[in-house]
Amino acid sequence: MSNSNSIENTILTSLRDVPDFPKKGIIFKDITPILSNPQVFNQTLSALAELLKPLNLTHIAGIEARGFIFGAPLARELNLPFVPIRKPGKLPWKKQSISYTLEYGSATIEIHEDALGDKAESARVAMIDDLLATGGTTKAACQLIKAIGGKVVVAAFIVELSFLRGRAVLAEEVSEIKSLACVK
Ligand code: AMP
Repeated sequence: MSNSNSIENTILTSLRDVPDFPKKGIIFKDITPILSNPQVFNQTLSALAELLKPLNLTHIAGIEARGFIFGAPLARELNLPFVPIRKPGKLPWKKQSISYTLEYGSATIEIHEDALGDKAESARVAMIDDLLATGGTTKAACQLIKAIGGKVVVAAFIVELSFLRGRAVLAEEVSEIKSLACVK
């Protein structure tokens, strides 16, 4: 078995399925068993780092909140700046906002205008979240990076729910999409 297969198996067997959370009909993929096992958490972060190392990145961006859990230690591992993309009203400095539609209702996320520093135009950003579902959240996050002058070169996830076809939505905004494990 290859390493990439074994990390996928490790992740898939670690996830806890919680039916009807947060509402009826959704099977929530709980990632906390990955976090509660230091070896699995470490293997997951190492696999993510290996995937992203060849891409000549300048920044790691993470989407609040579970994108922070994986994105911040990944940034440390790769020795790159971490860019937090946050829910409304949390960031204290000058910022850009974007609203997008969810399955029911809408959501807003925000970024500091100076999050990429003074070389935003040459930034090569990786966008990190725990899970790719319909793709709307990550697509909006990539548009925020664009709004402050940068470019997302890869979006990376621990898990992808491929039956929701988020990849197609996200492909409108970012050319490389990577996930460590896939639920079909
Ligand atoms: P989406 O915009 O549909 O791709 O949703 C992505 C966000 O919602 C991610 O931050 C996920 O953490 C969360 N999410 C969506 N569906 C699920 C699910 N079935 N299990 C766990 N998290 C989910």
